[in-house]
Amino acid sequence: MRQPNWTASVADQTGVRAIPPGLHFVSTPIGAARDITLRALDVLAGADLLLAEDTRTLKHLMEIHGVSLGTRHVMSYHEHSGDAVAARLIAALREGKSAAYASEAGTPLISDPGFVLARAVVAEGLPIFAAPGPCAAICALTVSGLPSDRFLFAGFAPTTGSARLRYLEEFAAVQATLIFYESPKRVGALLADLVTTCGGARHAVVCRELTKRFEEVARGTLAELVGDFADRALKGEIVVLVDRALPEEASAERIEAALDGALQTMSVKDAASVVSQSLGIPRKMAYRIALERSKGGD
Ligand code: SAM
Repeated sequence: MRQPNWTASVADQTGVRAIPPGLHFVSTPIGAARDITLRALDVLAGADLLLAEDTRTLKHLMEIHGVSLGTRHVMSYHEHSGDAVAARLIAALREGKSAAYASEAGTPLISDPGFVLARAVVAEGLPIFAAPGPCAAICALTVSGLPSDRFLFAGFAPTTGSARLRYLEEFAAVQATLIFYESPKRVGALLADLVTTCGGARHAVVCRELTKRFEEVARGTLAELVGDFADRALKGEIVVLVDRALPEEASAERIEAALDGALQTMSVKDAASVVSQSLGIPRKMAYRIALERSKGGD
């Protein structure tokens, strides 16, 4: 069957340029095949060398999008690959060739291989690029409804009980949305250990099968989610997100002391704003107390 000359047609339509020499990390879909980016297809179509964590997955993706392999074959590179593939890659890059690497799904290096290649390429002073795109952590954060101003990607927690508890304890007080990857078999155990380390009142979100047919997003407190998932035999791919630590309830004395301190150098409005943020109390309440204190009330 005739393969479409994809590079030429896209180049004609969008004026894309040739792929520059260097290693290109290509993000691929985490579910819906159409989540591939046009630039990812450009890179796959134009790279001299193709490397993949799973060669069959990459070939299938290229076939879906009509990107011809031509005379290229796809080299396998996964977490157990020795140094030989990296050495071949470096030699090709030194000759001014371009190479594309795709992991099984999503963004390479994010709980996927790629870091060792990146380190080797950077150490050689050779060019390195990303064709950015899907990533389950970012997709989950986007739909979670949890604060996105600060987040911490914690990857997969250890699989054994005591190691997992120690791992989660490290993150319990972090002032950021926590993002974990987990296998469906262990989601119940992860949620239970999160209750132990972070407390049942913390808000959390479980995202399953993002961008796929049976996509599901469950929200609640950790205590509620433990109950919801206790009896469910889950399948599919899962991301668990946990809201940041709840602010300690500030006592009246602490609020007044903080406002008195702030009022030494700030207006009532600014002092109220700063203290409401730092102590996690409503701005109106902070303003009312600041106003009283600025007038000399006790
Ligand atoms: N590199 C990928 C990325 O950018 O997200 C992650 C690869 S890691 C080996 C696979 C894990 O990512 C899964 O176990 C799951 O936790 C998460 N994941 C991947 N695809 C997902 C999806 N469609 N829905 C929910 N979680 C997903």
